[in-house]
Amino acid sequence: RTIAALDADLVDCRACPRLVAWREQVAHEKRAAFADQTYWGRPVPGFGPDDARVVILGLAPAAHGGNRTGRMFTGDQSGDVLFRALYDTGLASQPTVVSADDGTELYGVRMTAPVHCAPPQNKPTVAERDRCARWLDAELELLMPTLRSVVVLGAFGWQAGLRAFADLGWEVGRPRPKFAHGARTVIRRDHRELTVFASYHVSQHNTFTGRLTPDMLVEVLTAAAENAGL
Ligand code: SF4
Repeated sequence: RTIAALDADLVDCRACPRLVAWREQVAHEKRAAFADQTYWGRPVPGFGPDDARVVILGLAPAAHGGNRTGRMFTGDQSGDVLFRALYDTGLASQPTVVSADDGTELYGVRMTAPVHCAPPQNKPTVAERDRCARWLDAELELLMPTLRSVVVLGAFGWQAGLRAFADLGWEVGRPRPKFAHGARTVIRRDHRELTVFASYHVSQHNTFTGRLTPDMLVEVLTAAAENAGL
């Protein structure tokens, strides 16, 4: 199976009734500023090359961001902060993104999420996270030949990421390492190592208050890229 085949299956997933209803309701009602656009309104697949050395794990698509444009972190302010930082780190082809067909490329990086459908209030349930884990596990396993660094954004991504790697047979430590901005942990499987880097999430709550500054994000991305040989 390829990542492209995985993504093609993912976009038809309807396993979570609450999220299917929400993503479609938002797509139907729309935000006034986007009234002339057709919302994606489906599961949002990962974005970036299938031989990525770095994977970025967020939380879930935003209702009027990824759920509108059909591309991870594209079309909302959280994504704008992330793409700007990726560009400043030399990992994205342009600093601003608007739509899935804007020609943006990621260099050696793939971004994905533990939950692929937009949840109400950006809060998926534990059951929804667990249901979506099969997609994350499969995507990470397909990336494994080239993967070197994992960047998790926020405590949800940290927990979901470590759980996914534990499911896939990686030694992630017991008790599991705690989330903190700037934390990192090395996980191992069959003589291989991956380094997991943590950053605060690029949510508006964190970026508007200065809890997460652009420099703090660039610092984490730079460390992950260097670890991956990018
Ligand atoms: Fe399927 Fe994941 Fe969306 Fe649930 S959140 S419907 S498991 S893609």
